[in-house]
Amino acid sequence: MKSLDLTAYGEDAMVALGQRIGRALPVGVIYLEGNLGAGKTTLTRGVLNSRGHSGAVKSPTYTLVEPYEFDSGPVYHFDLYRLGDPEELEYMGIRDYFAGPALCLVEWPARGQGVLPRPDLQVKVGVVNDAALGIGRTIALIAQTPAGVAALAEIAD
Ligand code: ADP
Ligand code: MG
Repeated sequence: MKSLDLTAYGEDAMVALGQRIGRALPVGVIYLEGNLGAGKTTLTRGVLNSRGHSGAVKSPTYTLVEPYEFDSGPVYHFDLYRLGDPEELEYMGIRDYFAGPALCLVEWPARGQGVLPRPDLQVKVGVVNDAALGIGRTIALIAQTPAGVAALAEIAD
């Protein structure tokens, strides 16, 4: 399976989907794409929940990355919205974050084009307004590696 189209109505459903993603891909790289307010950080909160983090998740808009340490290994949450030049990522030692067995979540990956490694999973979030269900989100999951394909199969299960 190469792609999976899902919907989530409400924040709780979004967090639950993030938990499923977090369980399905123990290590690797996830790109989170979508406009401001799409729900990228909410999805990240679900992923972190699946590892045992129950607190809030702050957007690392100015620091670019927020590290989390778990028994299962590190999770790095990037938000590249304010990144001026992909070269800044070289200065912050971006390669070290992606070198080890970690799970890396990247909001606004297009800002780091040319420096970031390719993702296992590409996640595209959009807004949907359904007459019956209200306002929710469309989530397109696209596998870009064999690990991503395996993760998709588990998420769809
Ligand atoms: P982003 O990181 O993409 O800018 P956030 O994760 O901060 O977006 O979410 C912005 C808002 O969207 C939050 O108020 C959140 O509660 C809401 N939201 C997220 N996912 C959903 C969803 N599936 N349905 C409805 N509202 C959602
Ligand atoms: Mg965000």
